[in-house]
Amino acid sequence: MIEFKYQCSECSREYNITADIMVCPECSKMQEPDKPLLGILEVVFDGHFHHQPKMSDLLPVEAEYFPKIPVGGTPLWTPANIADELGFPNLYIKDDTHNLTGSLKDRASYLVAAFAKREGIREIVMASTGNAASSMAGVGAAAGLNITIFLPESAPRAKMVQSLQYGANVVLVAGNYDRAFDLSLEFSRKSKNVLSRNTAYNPLTIEGKKTVSLEIYQTLKRSPDFVFVPTGDGVILGGVYKGFRDLQKMGFVDKIPTIVAVQAEGSNAIAKAFKDGGFTEIDAHTVADSISVGIPRNGYYALKQLKQYNGKCVTVSDEEILIAQKELSSKAGLFTEPAAAASYAGFLNMRAEIPNDAIVVLLATGNGLKDIDSAIKGVEFPKKTITSLDEL
Ligand SMILES: *Cc1c(COP(=O)(O)O)cnc(C)c1O
Repeated sequence: MIEFKYQCSECSREYNITADIMVCPECSKMQEPDKPLLGILEVVFDGHFHHQPKMSDLLPVEAEYFPKIPVGGTPLWTPANIADELGFPNLYIKDDTHNLTGSLKDRASYLVAAFAKREGIREIVMASTGNAASSMAGVGAAAGLNITIFLPESAPRAKMVQSLQYGANVVLVAGNYDRAFDLSLEFSRKSKNVLSRNTAYNPLTIEGKKTVSLEIYQTLKRSPDFVFVPTGDGVILGGVYKGFRDLQKMGFVDKIPTIVAVQAEGSNAIAKAFKDGGFTEIDAHTVADSISVGIPRNGYYALKQLKQYNGKCVTVSDEEILIAQKELSSKAGLFTEPAAAASYAGFLNMRAEIPNDAIVVLLATGNGLKDIDSAIKGVEFPKKTITSLDEL
């Protein structure tokens, strides 16, 4: 039998996994405004498997509660033209644009939805800049849950339309993501039987994202050497580490890969803290809206993992992101949103330090059609219309 618990990543206190606990009640008492969350809880497991474990055995919610939808199991493939051109034969893309709603966020929403089903909760509330919202809206729709979303009014329209199409209750906030975050927490505290899916705050958002690492292992049968992770709040980063740490704990892999947090130059809070030690709120600006974050909610936890496992941080400019996006589209046939292309941009910046035979995985975290306004910046529209071929 395997038993799952929450354990505080700071004080190591343990708690049962219930719907009314989100961050460590003790450590979060010291929470300062405008800083990453204190008392991030981690799912830990204890006990022995009596059979060769399946991936679902490593999740804290039983398989029967998950909606029957295609989340995870995404392809890991080599972009041959790029791999040949750069001389990296073992370059892979973990293509999470294939998820139900087109982003990696579905892995977190999937676990949160299953947990809500198990606990008999009918409504989920959250704040998001876009993908987490559209993901919870879509996964929640399939699971028969009511979803309420607090969105900053600047959220890309496609992601807003996606959420509305899925039938979510969308509340537009005159203000930024941080304001939406606070309002959504207030809403979940005031309502009964409502679960928050705020990223990092709900520990299952980190835990759910670990499945991306479990799948990379399932395909490669080993740890890769490098994994490039586009990073905003640092929840995907935390999840990627958690997956490989679980695999190491079970004896499946002997090493944790070198994880590279890729941030935009204009939204580099984690990279900055990695260098100078502390977090100060930044005024985030980048074309990659999904990694545009002033206060990374999972900053302390992400930083601790990066330090402990010799991870790296790399920053990329908006121009480099847009060039990387266009290259992935035109050389690999993979149209990603800018945040997702950041992992490739980060690899291009760092590749001189990486041995050519290294196994390198780039996380492609979101589909390009989610943010057309940014993608337009990387292309030129035809300047004129024609009436006959003679005009070509
Ligand atoms: C959310 C998101 C990220 C960043 O994840 P964090 O957990 O905020 O670091 C990267 N790419 C895409 C497409 C996302 O939706």
